Amino acid sequence: MAERTCENCSKPFTARAADVRRGWARFCSKSCKASHQERSTGQHAAYLHRQADRDFDAAQADGGWDEHKMWSSRHD
Ligand SMILES: [Zn+2]
Repeated sequence: MAERTCENCSKPFTARAADVRRGWARFCSKSCKASHQERSTGQHAAYLHRQADRDFDAAQADGGWDEHKMWSSRHD
């Protein structure tokens, strides 16, 4: 076993020497591995983009889009 520090939460943990040699012993848990990869691969940015799409849909649902069309026709 080898003492390692988690690259996601900086907590110390012990890893098997074989895993350290393979370069796998970087995180204390699967969830730390997942959240670190999410940040580095941009999946979190994609998630935020989906949130923005939902906000846009909500604006359409409550009449925001019709108001926009009226505004456009008044200024054409
Ligand atoms: Zn961790």
